[in-house]
Amino acid sequence: MFSYRHAFHAGNHADVLKHTVLIAALERLLEKEAPLTVVDTHAGAGLYRLDGDYAGTSGEAAQGVLRLLNPSNDTQPAAKKPAVPEEPAPALARYLELVRSFNRAGQARVYPGSPFITQHLLREQDKLKLYELHPTDARTLDANIAQLEAGRQVAVLREDGFGSATKFLPPPSRRALVLTDPSYELKTDYARTAAFVAEALKRFATGVYTVWYPIIPRPEAHELPRRLKTLATKAGKPWLHATLTVKSSKIAATPDGQGKRPGLPASGMFLINPPFTLAEQLRPALAQMAVWLAQDRNAGFTLEHGG
Ligand code: SAM
Repeated sequence: MFSYRHAFHAGNHADVLKHTVLIAALERLLEKEAPLTVVDTHAGAGLYRLDGDYAGTSGEAAQGVLRLLNPSNDTQPAAKKPAVPEEPAPALARYLELVRSFNRAGQARVYPGSPFITQHLLREQDKLKLYELHPTDARTLDANIAQLEAGRQVAVLREDGFGSATKFLPPPSRRALVLTDPSYELKTDYARTAAFVAEALKRFATGVYTVWYPIIPRPEAHELPRRLKTLATKAGKPWLHATLTVKSSKIAATPDGQGKRPGLPASGMFLINPPFTLAEQLRPALAQMAVWLAQDRNAGFTLEHGG
């Protein structure tokens, strides 16, 4: 069984990138009245504690969303903090506002994952399909969603997101956004992601497909955005590719000669059929993330689009 638990990583720099892009894309799509279906193929537990054991052990949120929120329960010494963003760009401001809405004023104890971010934005006419395979996270997700009393608007499926999520495509309104955010714990997740998007595009060529992936020294990770770009280009569809790097990927030397792995240094979001104007909105937000989430001089961002 999988050992990956998103609770260790919730609110890290990768979540800041992923969720800022997700919110910006959803908000553009929700400008139209027609119903939208969102399919989240790898949903996680839905809600996470930023002041709990998991987040405390990893310290990843402290280097991610907590740097931007600067809450009163943040334990980082003031001297170590980077300059707190005075005026976040609109896309980043929307993300921070949404995270704040899950917390009491001045605090950041709860972090909403993609299911709760999406559900928060959806209107009555929209639908959300959530896939989660880990038994514990699926149970937690079910319980968290049940509290919303969202009725038939939200469905939790304890199934393989790669296996059957395409059955919802195209939805009756022919408007859908699909988020594919596996843990990539299995090397095969890279190929399965590409195959899933290929199949989804075949069934529903005008859906909005969003894929998060880690940028790590592994051939499959470098290959995935290239494969997605080829898929989009062959289908004649526009695409957008945003990446955020916060530190070097080099293994640091240690006195015992073993070397220390740096943790996740960078990640990317690849979109096929991105909403119009998304690139313009993301550029200033990405530039701020690269400064405010930097852990060393290698921090930076890229933003490309085409088609
Ligand atoms: N999308 C979530 C968010 O942004 O808050 C985080 C998801 S986490 C990166 C990936 C999740 O996928 C984990 O909770 C893992 O248990 C689950 N998972 C792994 N393989 C899966 C599969 N084949 N189908 C559905 N869920 C799976």
